[in-house]
Amino acid sequence: MKTIDLRSDTVTLPTAAMREAISNAELGDDVFGEDPTTIRLEKMAAERMGKEAAMLVASGTMGNLVCVLTHCGRGDEAILGDQSHTFLYEAGGIATLGGVHPHTVANQPDGTLRIEDIEGAIRVDNVHFPRTRLICLENTHNRCGGAVLSPEYIEQVAALAHDRGLVLHLDGARVFNAAVALGVDVKELVWHADSVSFCLSKGLSAPVGSVVCGSKEFAAEARRIRKSVGGGMRQCGIIAAAGIEALDNMTARLADDHANAKRLAEGIAEIGGLAVEPQRVQTNIVFFDVVGGAVTAEQLVARLGDSGVRILQLGPARVRAVTHYGIEAEDIETALDALGKAMC
Ligand SMILES: *Cc1c(COP(=O)(O)O)cnc(C)c1O
Repeated sequence: MKTIDLRSDTVTLPTAAMREAISNAELGDDVFGEDPTTIRLEKMAAERMGKEAAMLVASGTMGNLVCVLTHCGRGDEAILGDQSHTFLYEAGGIATLGGVHPHTVANQPDGTLRIEDIEGAIRVDNVHFPRTRLICLENTHNRCGGAVLSPEYIEQVAALAHDRGLVLHLDGARVFNAAVALGVDVKELVWHADSVSFCLSKGLSAPVGSVVCGSKEFAAEARRIRKSVGGGMRQCGIIAAAGIEALDNMTARLADDHANAKRLAEGIAEIGGLAVEPQRVQTNIVFFDVVGGAVTAEQLVARLGDSGVRILQLGPARVRAVTHYGIEAEDIETALDALGKAMC
């Protein structure tokens, strides 16, 4: 029996082409700037994002950490969503390692921060206050169910940031999902951001790695910060080789994951005791709730697990299913069947 693992798109395994690219990768010492495969990936990523420079990092968490620490000094303040990955799920690294003060603003259900809320959070110059330095956005927005931020909204936040002498960082862990969902070039989503990080290891299926992009000056400073957090990697062409394959061949297919997520949500809406809003499923993440009391979320997750379908519990009643490479349309039907049976 095939396990249908819908807990996360991080469970994706490298493709055969990635394994091949890894075994053939030309390598050198990247801390000496001598790993040709890493250099190639970074050049390619910078071009794709329309930025001057890019740098490979070990994870999305390291990418966001390095970006925030590059923009902010100790005691500076970063404005970010109260549902953002950086605030909730990165072990408080910007504060513990960087001394950066997180100032949260409520995320709206569509993943945005209200412009007036951001404005209200920007500090005036006063000895009582930390200095606001940075605004962070997340696209797609994980905790908001894979919600997509539009290029217009991002431009609006960037204009506010730059007008007030601040910088904008974009946590684009799944920014290619956003671009595919909107049918726009990814450049349009990151154009106005001073830095962006994106994951190679989620829907793009590479085994390890994220990339951060920005100006030449930004990247030079980010390289020093990356070294300071132990992220200088030697023959990291091993990782970059899979990343090149991911950028070349794994972005367009994200549309299949979105179609599968949509079908999954529509099917869930038909099952008694489950509540979902299919119209809010824009990308590859489906949040739904176990309601009515006949079955608990714990029981649902356990029963599904017994039938080879894995999902993630995120709250007392809330569960999550994520579609990704390796999950086919027929797997969605199998999962829906198992969900129906588990709720009986
Ligand atoms: C997964 C994720 C990250 C962190 O990536 P890791 O590689 O797991 O450290 C950052 N931001 C968002 C929105 C994510 O979904």
